[in-house]
Amino acid sequence: MLYYIETFGCQMNAHDSEIMAGLLEQAGHMAAGCLAEAQIVIFNTCAVRESSENKIIGHIGNLKHHKEANPDSILVIAGCMTQQNGMAEKLLQKFPFLDIILGTYALDKLPRYIEEICQKRKKLVDNIENYTVSSCALPSKRLDKNRAYVTIMHGCNNFCTYCIVPYVRGRERSRNPEDIRQEMISLAQDGCKEIMLLGQNVNSYGKDLSKKTNFASLLRSVHDIEGIQRIRYMTSHPRDFNDELLQTILELPKVCRCFHLPVQAGCDKILKKMNRGYTTAEYKKLIAAVRELFPEASITTDLMVGFPGETDEDFAETLQFVKDCAFDAAYTFIYSKRSGTPAAKDPEQISAAVKKKRILELMEVQNPISLNYNKAMIGREELVLVEGPSHAREDILTGHTDNYKIVNFPGDKSLVGQFVPVKIMSAKTWHLTGQIANKDAE
Ligand code: SF4
Repeated sequence: MLYYIETFGCQMNAHDSEIMAGLLEQAGHMAAGCLAEAQIVIFNTCAVRESSENKIIGHIGNLKHHKEANPDSILVIAGCMTQQNGMAEKLLQKFPFLDIILGTYALDKLPRYIEEICQKRKKLVDNIENYTVSSCALPSKRLDKNRAYVTIMHGCNNFCTYCIVPYVRGRERSRNPEDIRQEMISLAQDGCKEIMLLGQNVNSYGKDLSKKTNFASLLRSVHDIEGIQRIRYMTSHPRDFNDELLQTILELPKVCRCFHLPVQAGCDKILKKMNRGYTTAEYKKLIAAVRELFPEASITTDLMVGFPGETDEDFAETLQFVKDCAFDAAYTFIYSKRSGTPAAKDPEQISAAVKKKRILELMEVQNPISLNYNKAMIGREELVLVEGPSHAREDILTGHTDNYKIVNFPGDKSLVGQFVPVKIMSAKTWHLTGQIANKDAE
């Protein structure tokens, strides 16, 4: 059968979609060119924000037409949304034309469930928490041969008061370091050059394993793999980013000089309410240490506005904090109420109008800072791993620098997958433009 997967949300979900594609192809199914021609349609969903959930529900509603036109098609809803309390029942009630609800622990059963539906045409729901199941040993169809995701751990133990992840992805389960190394070796043998190590909190990697290990020793153990030239990781928790890890990265040149340290708020009262486990002073100390050891590195962050109880004074503290820290870039979000989390029950919810006003103010402060950093790169020569043509134009290539700046430059598609020296010519807030520095490479 022909399958089509639409992915919503983060890199973990993107990699789960690669695994589902790998499983389906192993079972003899093939990728469809578009949703309209697919006999198996999978929506791999995200539950992190209410707005994305509403968008996905709208998309699921549209699947009704597909089912009417293709009554034998199999419609699957997978991913984080399905793990929420009562969500599977709600989805089946609202959209009775769905066939399978597949939780984040049940990916491995997808081919079997497809088979069962074909034979018996009954509905199947599997969103049971099962900590013994790991999707890591499953086959996956990599979308990008040159850059690959490698999951190092699942779940999160932190319970930030706004976040639904620990409820839908469960507690931390680290993968065995030898298995991670083996996966990276086989990716390198297939031509992969850059790895993104994935986990909700990579800095607490290994705490649940019986063998004494941690994220720093994992980085050391995979650094020598021939062919892998860049190692990235996501996501870090500032509380768990310690000196040992900084010193380790300093010794490992393949680990990219880009530190994404999600701070969420620049006000101690709000950080405490969020249960983030650090203060603004501790966070500033961490980024000062990063800047001292890695003057060439970029430091980026995530910031949330409108957390319950955030007063104008608290928000002003965050604005000042952002000015003080001078991040290379900040990914800004509006607080989204997620049912089942402590913050959702907080009576001091902030109005939508105030949240919108605050996010605009925050971007007004951050954007010129980002632009200044990017402008400072004009004239520099940067090594860019070419990812493909840019979205807008076929003759413009796109890729990232070591410190994770997006660079667009004219070049031939044959350069995709190669490291190319690019001279930076101009800068915008979110990307750089350049030209190939060594013309022989064209
Ligand atoms: S660290 Fe906090 S925000 Fe990140 S996944 Fe865990 S609970 Fe969610």
